[in-house]
Amino acid sequence: MANLPPLFDTHAHLDEPSLAAETEQLLTACQENGLVGVLTIGTTVESSRGSIVLAENHERICAAVGIHPNYVSQAGPSDWDAIVEFAQYDSVKAIGETGLDRYWDHSPIDLQVDYFKRHLQLTRETGKPFIVHCRDAEPDVLEVLAAEYQKHGPLNGVMHSFCGSAETAQKCLDWGMMLSFSGMLTFKRNVELRELAATVPQDRVLVETDAPYLAPMPYRGKRNQPAYVKHTAEVLADCYGMSYKELCQITTANAMRFLKIN
Ligand SMILES: [Zn+2]
Repeated sequence: MANLPPLFDTHAHLDEPSLAAETEQLLTACQENGLVGVLTIGTTVESSRGSIVLAENHERICAAVGIHPNYVSQAGPSDWDAIVEFAQYDSVKAIGETGLDRYWDHSPIDLQVDYFKRHLQLTRETGKPFIVHCRDAEPDVLEVLAAEYQKHGPLNGVMHSFCGSAETAQKCLDWGMMLSFSGMLTFKRNVELRELAATVPQDRVLVETDAPYLAPMPYRGKRNQPAYVKHTAEVLADCYGMSYKELCQITTANAMRFLKIN
């Protein structure tokens, strides 16, 4: 077990009820599959607080704090202040998830943009990278990111569960961002996504699960968990034509550099 190549799941929601009930079992599975870290992602103030508690109680877990675009219209006046405070904690390594979502359309787009910009500013203030959720909103997300880049220079962030166009990928890379691939990379029909993944510079690529959602093949449709990140890593290794071990080493080194974990 000690010789397993290292893996890092850069996006999971361990505070979700379906996962929070069995943190210990999930971490055992992580250990059995070589995971050295899991970034658990906040979506509300409550879930950000829950993520911090998980990170402070488990060595392998670190936290991201933020308000997901689908929840910004539920955020109360003091909620953003709490996120700003949480962002200072040592156990917090990233800001988010933020971004824009026109698929669910739970919150007015202007409000989503307002919160997206707040997260970007918090990254500038803390030096901790932001995590972008983008669903049916590529042009809007690019507009916000382009403005940020023009005003403040290179972007310290990641496009999570990337499934956008090659043009979008190139812009994000040009702006200095990372691209993270989830279980969607393993779905049979996503041939173009695998072709795109093969072109991403090796120092800009991350892997994630987005657990409990988006389980990779062969678990598609089931509850996802961080240990399953290995299936996405196997497919990504094939995309690059490299060994699984090398892919694990590269993506884990990227994750640790990106999150400033030693
Ligand atoms: Zn997420």
